[in-house]
Amino acid sequence: MPRTIAVTFAVAAGLVLASHAQPRPSIADIKTTPESTGFKSTSTYDDVVKFMTAVNEASPNIFYTTYGTTFEGRAMPMAVVGTGLKGTSAAAVKATGKLRVHIQGNIHAGEVEGKEAALMLLRDFASGKHADWLQSTVLLITPIFNADGNEKFSLTNRRGQNGPINGMGTRPNAQGLNLNRDFMKMDTPEAKAFVKLWVDYDPQVGFDLHTSDGSYHAYYLTYSPPLNPNTSDTIMAMMKEEWFPFVTKTIKAKHGWDTFYYGNAGVPGGRGGRGRGAPPAAGAAPPAAPTAPAAPQTPPVRAWSTFEHVPRFHNNYVGLRNRFALLSEAYSYATFEDRIRATSYFLEEALTFAHQNAARLKQAVAAADRQRITGTPQATSAKMKRGGMVEILMGEVEPETNPNNGAVMNRRKDVVHPEQMIDMMWFEPVATEIVPQEYYVPEDAAKALELLRAHGIEMRQLRQPVKGLEQFTIAANNAGQNSEGHATRRLEGEWDAAPDASAPRGAFAVPMTQPLARLAFYLLEPMSDDGLVNWNALDEQLKEAKTYPILRKK
Ligand SMILES: [Zn+2]
Repeated sequence: MPRTIAVTFAVAAGLVLASHAQPRPSIADIKTTPESTGFKSTSTYDDVVKFMTAVNEASPNIFYTTYGTTFEGRAMPMAVVGTGLKGTSAAAVKATGKLRVHIQGNIHAGEVEGKEAALMLLRDFASGKHADWLQSTVLLITPIFNADGNEKFSLTNRRGQNGPINGMGTRPNAQGLNLNRDFMKMDTPEAKAFVKLWVDYDPQVGFDLHTSDGSYHAYYLTYSPPLNPNTSDTIMAMMKEEWFPFVTKTIKAKHGWDTFYYGNAGVPGGRGGRGRGAPPAAGAAPPAAPTAPAAPQTPPVRAWSTFEHVPRFHNNYVGLRNRFALLSEAYSYATFEDRIRATSYFLEEALTFAHQNAARLKQAVAAADRQRITGTPQATSAKMKRGGMVEILMGEVEPETNPNNGAVMNRRKDVVHPEQMIDMMWFEPVATEIVPQEYYVPEDAAKALELLRAHGIEMRQLRQPVKGLEQFTIAANNAGQNSEGHATRRLEGEWDAAPDASAPRGAFAVPMTQPLARLAFYLLEPMSDDGLVNWNALDEQLKEAKTYPILRKK
């Protein structure tokens, strides 16, 4: 009946007109790019800026600002979420006395779930959800850290990952550098902006949101605290005994999904780690069972191995700053929608814990800052520790085709195979040094001094020479291993008392009684596996040197 249809249409059109006459749609109805594309696409940089501008306009508790500029000149977006903080400064945020939490997404721009979950969280705040959290907490939300990489969309980035089928960005930034290897050396404007944000706002908690690319396990999300063995015990105890167990228990109870510490399954002795123990090729089926052997064989016991301990990684860097770090890895082969959901659940439960324990978290950080490490042994390098047995939930995947280019992606199957594995989730020192009272950096070591200053490490320039020091005699000085555009340098040698050595007037003393002593130690020790020596910051001073240019006082 055409007539009836016409009337119905007119009524519907009238309703549309009426709704257009209203001032604006509710902020709760604004959609992210994945939501508005049926989870086929992820947000562009412009989408992120538009979304953040909208929540900024809609909420008195969200202040949209920027905290740096990328290599290609994009302003780096940040939302400060808190009560009464519109148009605010870092000093005003600190003056609230509330727990400060930094949430970072998109450090690897093909791993986009953190970016999307962070935007959804901002929408929650703008629509009045989680108002209680703001009584205890101020959040600094930076959804798109690697903004330049985000814009280099390709269907072939991150092969094997289950979408978004319209493509995603690249792992490195526009300089071709991995931002998650840049926190010590700061070769990128992005890492410099991050460290400046941490020096200025001094958050007590840092989230770093990723997507996995390794083993076929059954977890929707895996996570990691700091892994460097020099991290404060107080920080580690709260994370391992309370925070992560709470998150895992609550997500399981509310949503039925398993989460656990990040790892990859592999044969022990083989070097486990990020990407290692990964599927041989995108879309490849799990290895087929070998043809039946003559006699029954027991399969080798596998290990669940984490990634690395060096502070060039976000979580380890934040840990050496005496702060809580929560890295997450949404499971690559779960659907894009489920990965965003898993990341949102992780944020929601971890932030619930942060709100409920805000006072204790602040106290733990303050205690770690006050703790003196002078005279104690601290690691200068570390290796994975072989622990006891641990039950790991392994899974399976099946191939699925990306309709856009016919590429084969992996799709998580809903099966769980518990397997007893060797726990290789933690690190132990390979070599240690006793933390001295002070180090002395020569006045002409410009590159080293610039880095120490940028990290926020306290120094004072000597007005008169200091004697009674220790000097490091160099036995071997090798450079050449290529990493992140560096011929990384390693020194070998020994510290000895040097009655004749003195730090001259004008040199910079770095006291080890300061809050950032753990970080300063890792930067300054000559045999550190992630220090100033490795990243060529002392190359000028080390040319043909018989001794290390930095001295120390026991
Ligand atoms: Zn990543």
